[in-house]
Amino acid sequence: MAFNDAFLEELRSKNEISEVIGAYVNLKRAGRLYKGLCPFHGEKTPSFTVYPDTQSFYCFGCGVGGDVVSFIRKAENLDYTEAVKLLADRSGIPMPESGYDDSMLKRRNRIYEINKEAAHFFFSQLIDKKHAHALQYYFDRGYTFDTIKHFGLGYAPDSWDALKKHLNEMHYTNEELYAANLVSKSSKGGYYDRFRNRVIIPIIDLRGRVVGFGGRVLDDSKPKYLNTSDTLAYKKTHQIFAMNFAKNHAVQGIILCEGYMDVIALHQAGFENAVASCGTAITPEQVRTIAKYTDTVFLSQDADEAGRKAVEKSIALFGEVNIKVKVLNISGAKDPDEYIQKYGADRFKALIEGAETDTEYKLLTAKNKYDLATNAGRADYVNEAARILSELDPIKRDIYASEIAEQTGVSKGAIISECKRLARRQTRTKRREVDRAAMRMSDEKDKINPEKPRYKAAALAEERIIAVLMNHPDYVRTIEANVTEDDFVTAFNRHIFSVIMRRIREGKSISMSALGQELTTDELSVLAGLEVLGKGLGNPRLECLESITTLKEEKLKQLKPDIENLSDEEFRKLFES
Ligand SMILES: [Zn+2]
Repeated sequence: MAFNDAFLEELRSKNEISEVIGAYVNLKRAGRLYKGLCPFHGEKTPSFTVYPDTQSFYCFGCGVGGDVVSFIRKAENLDYTEAVKLLADRSGIPMPESGYDDSMLKRRNRIYEINKEAAHFFFSQLIDKKHAHALQYYFDRGYTFDTIKHFGLGYAPDSWDALKKHLNEMHYTNEELYAANLVSKSSKGGYYDRFRNRVIIPIIDLRGRVVGFGGRVLDDSKPKYLNTSDTLAYKKTHQIFAMNFAKNHAVQGIILCEGYMDVIALHQAGFENAVASCGTAITPEQVRTIAKYTDTVFLSQDADEAGRKAVEKSIALFGEVNIKVKVLNISGAKDPDEYIQKYGADRFKALIEGAETDTEYKLLTAKNKYDLATNAGRADYVNEAARILSELDPIKRDIYASEIAEQTGVSKGAIISECKRLARRQTRTKRREVDRAAMRMSDEKDKINPEKPRYKAAALAEERIIAVLMNHPDYVRTIEANVTEDDFVTAFNRHIFSVIMRRIREGKSISMSALGQELTTDELSVLAGLEVLGKGLGNPRLECLESITTLKEEKLKQLKPDIENLSDEEFRKLFES
């Protein structure tokens, strides 16, 4: 899996890091750098930084960093070779013929192929006269044939092996079908079709590949939905149904629904910005994907208790990435699908335009909980409302406080002062939370170099030496003349230092992308942090020499217990060094 430096340099020059990352993160130029909200941890103020001069990135919040390849590895959840392949494809550079292990990539691509064939098969079964009842099912839902084709909807016949036979004939093995989660294994070791007598909804990723399927029963039997489990090609917590279409209409905001059928009905009615999470509650990964394309989300969950819980969770998650949340008040129907059928697209459009902000939604939910005809009910409602308003800016707080004062007869001044008291308390709690998070993050970083807390001074000196070396490889003679690997105290830094020195001696590049294939993404993150540190040093030469002195003193301190046992000759050597 070793790529040569020339290939990696070409890959790097054809994949300008700010452009590649710009497709994932909304980057703003800040002098010679770019800044944005980190895609790897939740944050509200940008600490994720891209450095065009060194073609690297670093997040000051969570300590993740590296080059364009390690970014893709993390963002797309790929291994090193796969990430290189993706960038090579993106920029039209041919991959080197041999010399890398792409078995995982091949297995994953095989699953995409199988899924595509399966989708064709399900569609052909749907339009087969034998299965007219399945097509009728879609027509009864109000779907047109155009919609069916657009989404590639299909039907899995009521058979134990129809799909299996079909794909076997195309020379896909049962093991491969099993890896794609299209067949199940019986206790006796035989394979049988997983989807049977269900209408089939293919799940397509942002790059247009069929990654999995949802299957729904045609009647009321259970389970209502059967979905592809996680495979090499599909991770349900990351995937968003219909995002491949919706991303092109995301300027109008994204409508988040609960089910596939809601989304399909909405698209047919002209709301092509509708999506759904795939059989799970919304996850932070899905939220971050949506945040790449839009700044407003309309929550369109079912009007039941589970739907209300989902709304609350979604409001919190989208709030973390600064996405505006509005809640659609779907009354008179159990879900958006039924709403459109009953009242039509225009009424749904009005629903979007009149959508409640998250604050209105929360207040309304609180109000419905209490009996405002009683004093106790009014008091509870005011308390809960004050908590909700305490999170708002003073102007919005004022507006809503007036409304609540009117509804309850409690004076506006009293409501506002309660809000202020709660806001102060929340600021204190938040500050403590931020401190704790910062502590957790630095613990996280220390995990990579577990010896650092014990040998803090030595580790910091080592880091400075590496930082200078990364930014000024021409200092290598000075460094070599004064310090060797053996002087390093912590094993982690010694490893990094020796990798860098070896590459320099071999005349190889020590750019982040060249080092990427020798180091793990975690190691590369630390290195990216050190590179940033090195950029900020005023007098790198002096810093480097001072750090070397510190390191040697620290090393000596460590050896001290043994000094008593040294021979005179050894002591003389140590003393001289
Ligand atoms: Zn981060």
